[in-house]
Amino acid sequence: MPVIIPIFIMNRGCPNRCVYCNQCRTAGDYPGRMARDAFREEVHRWLNYARRKSDPVEIAFYGGNFTGMDPGDQEELLGMACEFVDQGAVRGIRVSTRPDALGEEALALLLRYGVGTVEVGAQSLDDDILERSLRGHTAADVVRTVAVLKSHGIRTGLHLMVGLPGDSPERFAFTVDRTVTLHPDMVRLHPTLVLQDTILAQAYLRGEYRPLGMKGAVAACKFALMRFERAGIPVIRMGLQTTGELEKAGSILAGPFHPAFRSLVEASIFFDMASFLIEEASAGGGEVTFFLAPKDVSAFRGQRNANVQCLRRAYALASLSILAEPAQERGSVVMTADGRRWRLDRRAVRERDIPAWWEKEEGREEGNVSVSPLPCRR
Ligand code: SF4
Repeated sequence: MPVIIPIFIMNRGCPNRCVYCNQCRTAGDYPGRMARDAFREEVHRWLNYARRKSDPVEIAFYGGNFTGMDPGDQEELLGMACEFVDQGAVRGIRVSTRPDALGEEALALLLRYGVGTVEVGAQSLDDDILERSLRGHTAADVVRTVAVLKSHGIRTGLHLMVGLPGDSPERFAFTVDRTVTLHPDMVRLHPTLVLQDTILAQAYLRGEYRPLGMKGAVAACKFALMRFERAGIPVIRMGLQTTGELEKAGSILAGPFHPAFRSLVEASIFFDMASFLIEEASAGGGEVTFFLAPKDVSAFRGQRNANVQCLRRAYALASLSILAEPAQERGSVVMTADGRRWRLDRRAVRERDIPAWWEKEEGREEGNVSVSPLPCRR
């Protein structure tokens, strides 16, 4: 995974405001337009940080509809980024854009400037959810855009959201299945949050929309992560990156936000694996020892040791020990109990034992939340 230098374009090129979107909160305190000097300063700041890592660096234009901007504005930004590519300081350029904004002219411009990756804001592949979310495009637009990008050799990412208005376990599973069929090069996955100053916030305050709870969001993302991993599609991010603006009181009205959301999902997978082994071995009430790759120990324990406490309680274990085993493959769990040994690979869990993954949320409103549109620029 490259180090990404994010440059936020703050809703530029967006034809309307999607119900959940508030770039002022998700991007943080950021200028609406970035002057050349400020751009250079920002990139140099990131390059100083990236020097401590050996990973390649890419400049990314996020937070808007890049190919929906005026072509002159696109060229200006791509030209500024290309300076760094030409110097060899940066490996490549990526942009995020809408699935209905990639015409021939826009594609030609991206190719001319050597844009290597396009991240497409799909959010869902269910037309009803897209309509309720005021996305203004269809699932067919996503399918077409992914095909065009792939046919031109551009690495393609899909952004997906779970818990949008009208979403359900079946609909989310459908989106995940269709995404697997499209086989993008990468996926980002975000639970829907109710951010201040959004259409969704208005609907939430009127009681017309209720977000997923944390348990449901973790379960849904766990399901998706497992499906994507099995299909060989990397999930490069789960949950919004926290920003100073996002952390301010009142920025998030409701929804399953956690600054380390992915770690909750990984911990949940390990919990399922440990439960499976304990049940398989009929080790409840006994003494068990788990062996893990050193880098998996923290995820296995869970936040504040939550997994260990829950396993002890759920299976009335006399003792539960965890040992780091350097030779062990990442993602695998070995358990010893009563002189016997069991091993479980993460891939095997995916095949055999995906637990119920979407909590029952009584009264979760599926209504249409569209109200008076908000301006799409600050
Ligand atoms: S396309 Fe929608 S979600 Fe994306 S930046 Fe524009 S308004 Fe926000």
